[in-house]
Amino acid sequence: MQSLMNQLADLAAIDNELDELHEELGDLPKEVKSHEKTVKMRSALVDETQNLVNELHTFTSNAQIMLQEIKDKEAQYAEQQFQVRNNREFDAITKEIENLRDERARIIEEQRTSGVKAENLAQILAQQKLDLADAVEVLNEKEKELSDLSSGHNDVLKALMQKRIDLANSINVNSLADYERIRTFHTEAAVPLRKNSCTGCFSAVPPQKIVEIRNNMNKMFLCEHCGRILFPEDIKKVTV
Ligand SMILES: [Zn+2]
Repeated sequence: MQSLMNQLADLAAIDNELDELHEELGDLPKEVKSHEKTVKMRSALVDETQNLVNELHTFTSNAQIMLQEIKDKEAQYAEQQFQVRNNREFDAITKEIENLRDERARIIEEQRTSGVKAENLAQILAQQKLDLADAVEVLNEKEKELSDLSSGHNDVLKALMQKRIDLANSINVNSLADYERIRTFHTEAAVPLRKNSCTGCFSAVPPQKIVEIRNNMNKMFLCEHCGRILFPEDIKKVTV
């Protein structure tokens, strides 16, 4: 069984490799997320405008039916006007015809403005669709870039993660917890001694402590300045 120091040195080496791999992916995962958001927002705008266009279209087709109905009624009244028995009836029908004409004028006016509205909306919708297509294209590019990079990394990544899991399982729980805690402050939680100094912060380590470290490979020693775990430089490491 490996000494604790060996285990921690190996763990630090694996974490180093993992950090490097993640660094190569860089901001790509974040970029992909942000482009996904843009596509979602632009797609919502297109839907909104499309709904307005549909509403206008519904009005336009209804308007045609309404106008036809008005026309039919007018024709009916016009015929009735010839069959009236007195002035009162004649006036009543004339009033109805006037009402129908007003109604027709109102619908035609609304049709006219809705024509302008429809034109504006069509222009807006076309531009929004172009913007959406642009965003989708950028997203696809970024996604491809990310998946190309990841798939190249995937096998290495998987192997490293498995190694890390196995190693972490073999380290005693308290030491592992210490390592993980230190790693929240320092990306390199365990560092070798070099020229009697901590290679994390370059402070000198007293000679008697170095002797102690060498003689107690199953204990954990921390740098008094930076708090990183120290191990001898010539420690035998597994190749990761
Ligand atoms: Zn240090």
